[in-house]
Amino acid sequence: MVSETNLSKNVCVIGAGPSGLVASRELRKEGHKVVVLEQNHDVGGQWLYDPKVEGEDPLGRNHFLEVHSSIYESLRLTSPREIMGFTDFPFSVKKGRDMRRFPSHRELLLYLKDFCESFRLREMIRFNTRVNYVGMLDYGVCHDDLKWIVRSKEKKTGKEVEEVFDAVVVATGHYSQPKLPSIKGMDSWKRKQMHSHIYRTPEPFRYETVVVVGNSLSGQDISIELVEVAKEVHISSRSLNISEGLSKVISKHENLHLHPQIDSLQEDGRVLFVDGSCIIADTILYCTGYSYAFPFLDTKGMVVVDDDRVGPLYEHTFPPSLAPSLTFIGIPRKLIGFPFFESQAIWIAQLLSGKRVLPSREEMLESIKEFYHSRDIAGIPKHNTHDIANFEYCDKYGDCIGFPRLEEWRKELCLSALRNSDVNLETYRDSWDDDELLQKALQSPHFTRLRVEDSAL
Ligand SMILES: Cc1cc2nc3c(=O)[nH]c(=O)nc-3n(C[C@H](O)[C@H](O)[C@H](O)COP(=O)(O)OP(=O)(O)OC[C@H]3O[C@@H](n4cnc5c(N)ncnc54)[C@H](O)[C@@H]3O)c2cc1C
Repeated sequence: MVSETNLSKNVCVIGAGPSGLVASRELRKEGHKVVVLEQNHDVGGQWLYDPKVEGEDPLGRNHFLEVHSSIYESLRLTSPREIMGFTDFPFSVKKGRDMRRFPSHRELLLYLKDFCESFRLREMIRFNTRVNYVGMLDYGVCHDDLKWIVRSKEKKTGKEVEEVFDAVVVATGHYSQPKLPSIKGMDSWKRKQMHSHIYRTPEPFRYETVVVVGNSLSGQDISIELVEVAKEVHISSRSLNISEGLSKVISKHENLHLHPQIDSLQEDGRVLFVDGSCIIADTILYCTGYSYAFPFLDTKGMVVVDDDRVGPLYEHTFPPSLAPSLTFIGIPRKLIGFPFFESQAIWIAQLLSGKRVLPSREEMLESIKEFYHSRDIAGIPKHNTHDIANFEYCDKYGDCIGFPRLEEWRKELCLSALRNSDVNLETYRDSWDDDELLQKALQSPHFTRLRVEDSAL
C-alpha cells in the first residue's frame, strides 16, 4: 500500500557489506538519517579479504568471531560479473583492473569501493565499530513507537557507546559462522581440524593427507587447489552422485578420491567412512557451510534462529511483531544477490518513511505459515528455508514496491554459468559458450546507459 506521508527516521544499519551499503544509500535517498556501524576497517563485508586468521578458533566455536570474511586467497567469483551489479551500477570491466568475466574477489571489492565513492556512502559509516547488543528500549511499555538501544565498541580504543535509534537494519551476512557436522570421535581427534572459514591458501597442507568434508562450491574449489600440493585429498560427500564436472576432476588426479560420509574419527588418526573404508589423515577440513547467527540481537524471542530458519520473517525481511523498526537484509540464499538486496533496501526505506505500509501482523504471520507449509509439502528441510532458487520470487518481491524485474539476460546468464560449472568445473571461469547472450547483456540499457552518461561528462 502507498501513502503520502514522508517521515524521516534515525536508522542504524549494522554492516557495510553489499547489503548494508545499498541499504544506507536507499535509506538516505528516502530522507532518513543513517549511521552504519561496521566492525572492520573498510567496506566490502565478505569481499574484504582477511589473511590474518591466527586468532580464530579453527572450528569457529567463538560466540563472536574474530574474522568475518571466509574468502580464500585464490577465490574467483562463481557468478559472471555481468549479473552481479546493482541495477543502476553495473559491474563493468575497467582498464588496468582484473577484466575477466569471473574475476578475483579483489575486483568485487574494488567495485564496492567504487559504489561507495559514487554515492558518497563512506560519510555514513563508522568503521572498527562492533555492535555487541541490540535490544528494545522500554520493552513492554510502548510498542507503537518502538525504539532500539544499540551498544557498540570501538575496536582501537575499546570505548563503548550506547545509542538509541528509531530503526535497526541488520545486514551482517551469513557466511561467517561455521556449521559443523556431528561426527563420532570429533572432540577427541588429536590431529588438525578446521573449517573452511579460515582456509586461505593450500601451502600449509603441503605433503599432507587431507579429508575435505563437503563438496559444495568451497569444497570443490579448495580440493582442486589442494591436490596440487597435498599428498592426498579425500573428499567426503553426503552423496556419491556427484556432478559431471567433479567426476572429471577426480578422474584426472591420482591423488584425489571420493568417499561417502565419515562414520568416525579414531584417536590414532584413522578416518573411517560409512562404507567401511579407512584412511589415515593429517587434517580434516570442514567445507560444510555456514549458519545464521546474530549474537548481538535480543528480541525477547520474537526472532529466533532454529535449524537455520530465521523467523518468523515475512518475505525473509520483516519480523511481523517488530517491523519495520527491525528488519533484515541479505537473508535469502541462492538468488542473484545484489539486485535483491537493493529491492529489500528500498522496501525498508519506504516503510520507514511511511510511504508504504506492511500488511497487518496477523496477515504476515499467516503468509509465513503458508510459506512454511508449502516448503514442508515440497519436502524442503527447515535448514533450507531461505534457499530461494527462483527468479519468479525475486520478481514478485520487487513488484511489491515497483522495483524493476530481473532482466531476461541476467536470468539466462546465471543459468548458463551454473550449467557450465556443473559440467566443466575446472574451466568454466575461463571458457564458455554463451557469448551471444553476453553480447545481448552488454548492449542492454544496464550497461549502455552508463557509457552514454560517462561520455557526457
Ligand atoms: C567463499 C564465498 C564465495 C562467495 N562467492 C559469491 C559469488 O561468486 N557471487 C555472489 O553473488 N556471492 C558470493 N558469495 C556470497 C557473499 O556473501 C555475498 O556476495 C555478499 O557478500 C553478501 O553481502 P552482505 O552485505 O549481506 O553480507 P557480508 O558481505 O557478509 O557483510 C556483512 C558485514 O557486516 C559486518 N558485521 C557483522 N557483524 C557485525 C557486528 N556485530 N557489528 C558490526 N559489523 C558487523 C561484517 O564485518 C561485514 O562487513 C560468496 C561467499 C563466500 C563465503
